[in-house]
Amino acid sequence: DVTRRPIMAGNWKMNLNHFEAILLVQKLAASLTEQQLTDVEAVVLPPYTDLRSVQTAIDGDKVPIRYGAQDLSPHKGGAYTGDISGAMLAKLGCTYVVIGHSERREYHLEDDALVNAKVKAALANDLTPILCVGEGLEIREAGNHVPHCCSQLDGALDGLKAEQVKNIVIAYEPVWAIGTGKTATPDDAQEVCGAIRARLAEKYGAETADAVRIQYGGSVKAANIAAIMAQPDVDGALIGGASLDAEEFASIVRFRE
Ligand code: PEP
Repeated sequence: DVTRRPIMAGNWKMNLNHFEAILLVQKLAASLTEQQLTDVEAVVLPPYTDLRSVQTAIDGDKVPIRYGAQDLSPHKGGAYTGDISGAMLAKLGCTYVVIGHSERREYHLEDDALVNAKVKAALANDLTPILCVGEGLEIREAGNHVPHCCSQLDGALDGLKAEQVKNIVIAYEPVWAIGTGKTATPDDAQEVCGAIRARLAEKYGAETADAVRIQYGGSVKAANIAAIMAQPDVDGALIGGASLDAEEFASIVRFRE
């Protein structure tokens, strides 16, 4: 029997300036107890411009909330105007970095090779990737969601060793459920999260597959989180819209209560 610590991560996307970020973190810190934050890992993923302020707020309150960025450059440094390196994020105390979010894949044309390079850049800086995979509506309707997600997974993890894969967090986010209010059913979430774990077991062995935490993402809110978390291969959630409200996000972290 394996126990994986649940992980609830709030993807703020391009919302909240650094003043608003401090306020939200302070509200979260006030509404979650140390025990709740021990039982469940809570993570905030603000825009780059908020990271320094989020770090100060979290350090100042000595609250065990983790934070990270929504993307990083695959490069170490140099002439890449507008980009942010893994080393810069690590220096700011980031634990996590989202990689391959469907909005980046769509609006910035990120493909599996680039996602793979970003995963490697994150790991080289001791950042934990939150690697997103997920199918669009057409692929779902054609019944190809499992092979699609497994193929994105294979591409993203190409060339990694089992001990590197062990620490990665994977987020299954069906694109048709993101920001649409249309949540996948708990069974839909389990089907793909289970298939991802089976694929990891096949490639890296059962011990690695059992250690990896797999999140579901797509219109998660306090009202639906418990049913989703009841699934055996779902270990947490990546939360967009609902993570911008401190009370709502805190309720998601307290999904067991
Ligand atoms: C996301 O973008 O990662 C996401 C899950 O968004 P939402 O919760 O708003 O659907």
